[in-house]
Amino acid sequence: MRIAAFTHQGQPGAGIVSADGLSIQPVELAAHEKPLGAQSLIERLSRGDALPPLSAAIAIDQVTLTAPLPRPRRNIFCVGKNYYAHAREFAGSGFDSSAKSGGDVPAHPIIFTKVPECVVGPTDDIVIPKGVSEAIDYEVELAVVIGKGGKGITAARAMDHVWGYTIVNDVTARDWQARHQQWDMGKSFDTFCPMGPWLVSKDECDGNKVQVRCWVNGEIRQDANTADLIFNIPFLIETLSAGITLYPGDVIATGTPVGVGIGFKPPKYLVAGDVVKMEIEGIGVIENRLV
Ligand code: MG
Repeated sequence: MRIAAFTHQGQPGAGIVSADGLSIQPVELAAHEKPLGAQSLIERLSRGDALPPLSAAIAIDQVTLTAPLPRPRRNIFCVGKNYYAHAREFAGSGFDSSAKSGGDVPAHPIIFTKVPECVVGPTDDIVIPKGVSEAIDYEVELAVVIGKGGKGITAARAMDHVWGYTIVNDVTARDWQARHQQWDMGKSFDTFCPMGPWLVSKDECDGNKVQVRCWVNGEIRQDANTADLIFNIPFLIETLSAGITLYPGDVIATGTPVGVGIGFKPPKYLVAGDVVKMEIEGIGVIENRLV
């Protein structure tokens, strides 16, 4: 199942994407649920409830896709340095305030968050905050969407708590990330979390083994497989839920592979007019322009 959120004739909604990807069947939602996209559907499905009634299908080119969770119920959990080659690339860049000599691969997952308000849709613009930072970088990431919530979830049971997946661009202001040590600010600027194009349920996508790719202006920059994560999805859920209760609709961005802009010498920062395209096998594509 693929759940998309959208605006149609100026109104927000959410619906089920057809198998051929050409149409959406909107779900009947209460007015207060509509701006939250897939959130209430994930909650219902995770309780074992049926979906609300579906309306007549709309051609997908008649809607504007928004992020499937346009305003997550709380911060997005993110994992830093979770692919070996990227951990080395980042530690060697001079921007990694967490790097210790010989410690470029973390012993425990590095967790930070992005505020919900930085989420934008799969084709929305990413705004370069002029005068604040022009060291803007891209990070393609597989994002896990939690279904059934819980605390103290073991790795062995963790996949029972996954509803599905989406794509996230963990856009980062590298100078703020380095200068402030804690990463949250440099990761949470407005528009710094493109998400989409929809949620894909775990029965249709094996998040533990999918190819993750990113292009900037058509040039491939990142190309890796989630099978190479340092800390895999079950371990991340076990770690996060040890002390924090997870809820339906929580998003965990699993980290980015090698090939980000600061991995180049000199760094290749994003500039106005650049187009960042990201694709994850079994999910789809997001494409965002820098302005
Ligand atoms: Mg990241």
